[in-house]
Amino acid sequence: MAARGDGPYVLDTTGKRYLDASGGAAVSCLGHSNAAVNDAIKAQLDRIAFAHTGFFTNEPMEKLADFLCERAPGDLNAVYFVSGGSEAVEAALKLARQYFIEKGEGSRSRFISRRQSYHGNTLGALSAGGNEWRREPYSPLLMPVALLSPCYAYREKRDGESDFDFGQRVANELEEEILRQGPETICAFICEPVVGATLGAVPAVEGYFSRIREICDTYGILLILDEVMCGMGRTGTLFACEQEGVAPDILVTAKGLGAGYQPIGAMLVSDRIYQTIRNGSGFFQHGHTYMGHPVACAASLAVQTYVEDNNLLENVRLQGAALKNALEATFGQHPFIGDIRGRGLFLGLEIVEDKETKAPFDPARKINAKVKAAAMDAGLMCYPMGGTIDGQRGDHVLLAPPFIIEASHVDEIVSKLAQAFQSTFKEV
Ligand code: PMP
Repeated sequence: MAARGDGPYVLDTTGKRYLDASGGAAVSCLGHSNAAVNDAIKAQLDRIAFAHTGFFTNEPMEKLADFLCERAPGDLNAVYFVSGGSEAVEAALKLARQYFIEKGEGSRSRFISRRQSYHGNTLGALSAGGNEWRREPYSPLLMPVALLSPCYAYREKRDGESDFDFGQRVANELEEEILRQGPETICAFICEPVVGATLGAVPAVEGYFSRIREICDTYGILLILDEVMCGMGRTGTLFACEQEGVAPDILVTAKGLGAGYQPIGAMLVSDRIYQTIRNGSGFFQHGHTYMGHPVACAASLAVQTYVEDNNLLENVRLQGAALKNALEATFGQHPFIGDIRGRGLFLGLEIVEDKETKAPFDPARKINAKVKAAAMDAGLMCYPMGGTIDGQRGDHVLLAPPFIIEASHVDEIVSKLAQAFQSTFKEV
């Protein structure tokens, strides 16, 4: 049982301390028990906890909306607040569909995404994701979504192919799929700028997103970027797509937005979409009871203000580079670590049985569960997951420590992870 938080540490009921090197699942970007955020939550509770958005807007919601729009790329100038990542993705899928109806292009109803992706567990978001294991039991309930190759150089790049050519080749799959189905049937392409849970911090290669943007524009298709995990500073810039030089039509974010202090997610929307609906029906036909929740917005505003005022994104870049270097130095030659990747404080290590062939371990060996248990024994929270690799489940470890970590925490993460690997691989 988690009993208490102390900066980058979680304490259980026995008093044992765990360094939170994964922010849960890339959530706790400020660590735990941040006094400024707690104070903001208490102050908002004393003013008003809840007022339904069917009747009122509220001050923290308005301020948070301004904060995000002023900093967002492109013309993402409207925001819709929900309670988490899946809700934000659902809203994005429905808004894309409504946009085309109001534009007089009601034939557009389909979405395209990528294999080995994750966009949430509600039915629409699950349909959009390419995580076979999560989809499988619900497959009869899901809408058909075409799944393209991920921009996953470690496994998908061909021998002799340059990074750039690889990126163009997988981006061009989007054009091929649009032409196969007919552009007049497609609403949007959705993907994560840096793939989180399913692959373990895999960024695209240079040029991939520019080509994706170009293809979407050519065929009048919306680009939805899912920054639920990689956004809000996690990769070293407030929005992950800033590093691609590309702005989406809809951007969804959550996790680091509220840093776990309150549940909150957001959908940021371009002027073009906002104006089309404003000048049409005037109303996005969607909604949840807790949207724009005042306490959640107050917590999120305090989190984002704290990150900015304390220049924490610089620390993300600095400690992120230090952590990546330390991981490479310690595990670069490890017989079972095939790849080390990521950006900022969003890093992944891929575990393979054979570095030469990149063959993953047999899923029956439950390597990721063993790494997680061994890390918890050592007092480290990391996020080991099994992605789907060539139809088999492979293993990776995702690291997403809080933005407040210092050099000593970097050392502690690496030494405890080494301990966890040692006890896991001794057994296998
Ligand atoms: N999109 C991405 C990229 C995610 O990583 C997640 C959560 N892991 C979600 C959507 C769903 O968010 P939530 O769990 O808050 O519903």
